[in-house]
Amino acid sequence: MSIKDAYTDSRLGLSFELFPPKTPESEAVMWRTVDELMAFDPAMITCTYGAGGSTRGTTLDVLKGVLARHDLPVASHLTCVGSSIDELRDYLRESLAIGVAAIVALRGDPPKGETAFRPVDGGLRYASELVALILSEFPEFGILVAGYPETHQEAISAQADLENLKRKCDAGGDVVVTQLFYDNADFFRFRDRCASLGITQPIVPGVMPVTNYSQVRRIASLCKAQLPESFTQSFEAAGDDEAAQFEAGVTYAARQVEELIAAGVPGIHFYVLNKSPATIRVLDHVGMKRAGA
Ligand SMILES: Cc1cc2nc3c(=O)[nH]c(=O)nc-3n(C[C@H](O)[C@H](O)[C@H](O)COP(=O)(O)OP(=O)(O)OC[C@H]3O[C@@H](n4cnc5c(N)ncnc54)[C@H](O)[C@@H]3O)c2cc1C
Repeated sequence: MSIKDAYTDSRLGLSFELFPPKTPESEAVMWRTVDELMAFDPAMITCTYGAGGSTRGTTLDVLKGVLARHDLPVASHLTCVGSSIDELRDYLRESLAIGVAAIVALRGDPPKGETAFRPVDGGLRYASELVALILSEFPEFGILVAGYPETHQEAISAQADLENLKRKCDAGGDVVVTQLFYDNADFFRFRDRCASLGITQPIVPGVMPVTNYSQVRRIASLCKAQLPESFTQSFEAAGDDEAAQFEAGVTYAARQVEELIAAGVPGIHFYVLNKSPATIRVLDHVGMKRAGA
């Protein structure tokens, strides 16, 4: 099956992003999350690849675990950070052997304390080069690439960043998954600009329901996402009340998702952070049918 088939006119392609858990307790929560989210018949589950390749083995362990429990395509994120081309090949071979269907092909961030990305000797400089490697040597994989509605923080201009996205798509990217954002206007502008550059791949918005204001400020500052006034106002109104903050986050994300679906997006990629309550509430709110319901 081509990964593009996950996004059809008759079905919204839902994907859920996990990260490798650090403790047995958090692993148990993650598996409960996966089992609960399966009720929404996702098109795919993905698992992140830690900075500097730090989760190499555990990323694949998570995906193996998903495949042992459920029958659906899984995707491994993979970055160029700290790996030679031969090491990337080894990882891709291993991924193929365990049944990974797709790769989210990324460059990765510079290591902590460094401002510029530097490839290792014999490594790759850009995600577009990783996409080309996968397509030429591992054509079995579907390939997802990252898009930035608010422009990647190192890009010299929004236009240069879009041209890079086009390069990744032309090199073999099948689907674009975006960085999280909180203002749908940023996504719609980005989608229009992709269309005018001739990017025809499905563009799947990344959504992270936020349930805790300090968490959102930290994540938004890490990935440089702007927080619209209506968003900060609803969290400020919730004050220190954790339950009210959860409600504010779920309500905001549900409105965001509702508007995206109405605007015809092919799917939604949820940054679920290994927990299901907020994502489930959002999906229920927008009327996504549960299996057997
Ligand atoms: C959906 C999604 C999932 C992610 N998952 C992970 C993960 O699992 N692990 C992780 O560590 N990080 C992850 N990231 C973060 C990502 O690694 C960073 O945003 C990283 O800084 C850029 O990766 P990229 O693949 O977009 O890089 P690239 O597409 O290579 O772009 C990097 C920068 O270089 C510029 N550029 C690209 N090509 C050229 C060129 N030829 N000439 C000049 N400039 C160029 C681009 O405009 C951009 O500013 C994820 C991001 C997203 C959106």
